[in-house]
Order: sequence, then structure tokens, then C-alpha cells
Amino acid sequence: MKNILIAGNLPQDCLQLMSQHFTLFRLDVAEDKSAFLAEHAAQIDGVSGGSVDADLMDKLPNLKIIANFGVGYDNIDVEAAKTRNIVVTNTPNRLNAAVAELALGLMIALARRIPKNHEMVRNGHWPSVKRAPLTGQLAGAKLGILGLGRIGKAIAKRAVVCDMEISYFGRTDQQNDYRYFDDLTAMAHYVDWLVIIAPGGEGTEKLVNAEVIEALGPDGHLVNIARGSIVDEPAMIAALEQGKLGGAALDVFENEPHMPDTLRNLPNVVLSPHAGSATHVTRRQMGAQVVDNLVAFFDTGKALDPVM
Ligand code: NAP
Repeated sequence: MKNILIAGNLPQDCLQLMSQHFTLFRLDVAEDKSAFLAEHAAQIDGVSGGSVDADLMDKLPNLKIIANFGVGYDNIDVEAAKTRNIVVTNTPNRLNAAVAELALGLMIALARRIPKNHEMVRNGHWPSVKRAPLTGQLAGAKLGILGLGRIGKAIAKRAVVCDMEISYFGRTDQQNDYRYFDDLTAMAHYVDWLVIIAPGGEGTEKLVNAEVIEALGPDGHLVNIARGSIVDEPAMIAALEQGKLGGAALDVFENEPHMPDTLRNLPNVVLSPHAGSATHVTRRQMGAQVVDNLVAFFDTGKALDPVM
């Protein structure tokens, strides 16, 4: 049996499935991690769970594969893996629907003030308010998607059903039915909603900066379901405070699970604890996909979902 180092948190059902095919070395729960690594490093064939940097790779002389739990792999030093001939895999596609569903849910919640109205009713204020305050709506509004990839397309499909007009920004014009912008600020000017669903990492660091946020404007809404690193968070908070940005629905944050108190207390935000793929079905399927990649790699020499 091959040996897999568990470097960080993985769901129980994924660990159980993995243990049917591999011997697991639980660095994630080891009390003295350095001693654990010193004892077992030479036996390790693969890693899964958590973050993997060049330093950890160098400690594992026989490491051949890093199987990431998640489609985003900005927690893995992919360049370091490449130079060391280590394969990196991720879990694309199986989480598209769950993430897209939450994106639409957050948008509807923000547009229709669902959390605020819920609080009003629950706190017994409805009799004194009498009528629900009027809100915006998705129908008829323009949606701009930053990153029209697998999940971006699943979001677009659902937004079309909500009668939204779709545009997108990315590095490539995909020549499809949606309107392509090669300039993010220009798209932000054009749309009412900007949904971020591109990878994190250096290429997208603070891509949504003060200029883009200002272009979205006082009636605009920002939705981030990708990575906190893509948004200039202080600029976004300032714009929300000053009424220069209409609202934000956020599943991810620069320093999650922490965030500035100002952001938590703003009236025009809907906040979610990085829950995009967090459904029972999806997480179970992602766990199976991690194991399928490891099994395929060790059985055939070819992983199913290599990222490079
Ligand atoms: P994907 O299929 O690879 O799509 C990524 C899209 O981003 C592509 O359309 C790509 O278009 C665009 N893009 C990449 N780099 C860019 C850049 N530098 N500037 C502008 N656009 C860029 O990925 P996916 O499966 O849809 O996942 C997208 C991301 O969602 C993941 O990487 C992850 O960070 C995030 N995610 C979050 C959650 C959550 O729980 N909140 C769950 C799953 C995924 P071009 O190549 O044309 O630029």
C-alpha cells in the first residue's frame, strides 16, 4: 500500500474512503509535527489536505502527488511542485452547482433584503413597520462575471433564468452568447452586479481595486464567492461605508475567518462563512474525487484531474 500524508483538514468520509486504498499518516493531528515528519517523511508517496509549500515538499524525498481537496489550489505551491516533478490534482466540476447555487442565493438575499427582513419579522418589528421596505431585484439587471469558467458558466445559466443580462471579463473572449469585456473597469461601469469567480493567487491579486469598485458605483453590488485576495478589502469597505458601493455579498475574505468589525456591522452586506461547496452531496463527491485521483495515479501513472 502507498502512504499518504494528511497535511490538513479533510472530511471524515474522505479519510475513510482513502484509508481503504492507502495507509494514512495523520500529520494534521500529530502533536509534534516536526518529530512526526522526521520519523515518516521518507515513506510518504502522496499528500492530501491543507496547504503544501516548497519547504514541506523538500522534506518528503519520495513525494509524487499532491491531491488537493477543492478546485482552487492557491494553497499549493504549484510552481515548486512542477520543478520537483510532483503532480498536483484538484476537484473540478463536481462543485459547480453548489457554488453557483450559493452565489445566486447570496444575490437574491442581498437584492431582496432577506436577512434584514427576517430580522425585522423575528424581532417583532413588522407591526410597527407595517409594510416591507421596497428593494431592488435581479430581473432586468445586468450581471458581470469576473471569470467565466466552470462555476462562472453555472452562475450565468442560473442568472439567465432570473432574467439577468450576462457579461463577463477574463483573459479570453470565449465567443459565446454573453457580452465579453477585455477591461474589468469598463464592465463594472456597464453592469449592476459584479460576481467574482476567478482563481486566487498572484494573477488576480486585488484585481477588484478602488477603481473597479467605484465604477460599479452606488447602485452596484459586488459578490465575491472566489477568494478574498481578489478584492481590495479596505477599499471595498470604505466604498460601502461612504455609499459609493451599493452592497456586497461575500463568501470569502482577505483574512478569513477574521474580518474587520466595520465590515461585520455594515447594513448593506450579506456575509457567508466560505460555504460555496459546503453541501453534504458535494463535499462527499469532492472527497471521492480526491481518492479517485490518488488511485488512478498510483494504478496507471496518470491522475484524472492534474492542474498542470
Ligand atoms: P475555472 O474553470 O478555471 O475558471 C476560472 C476562470 O477565471 C476562467 O474563466 C478564467 O478565464 C478566469 N481567469 C483566470 N485567471 C484570470 C485572470 N488573471 N484574470 C481574469 N480572469 C482570469 O475555475 P472554476 O472551477 O470555475 O473555479 C473558480 C474559482 O472559484 C476557484 O479557483 C476557487 O478559487 C473559487 N471557488 C470558491 C469556492 C467557495 O467555496 N467560495 C468553491 C469553489 C471554487 P481566462 O482564462 O479567459 O482568463
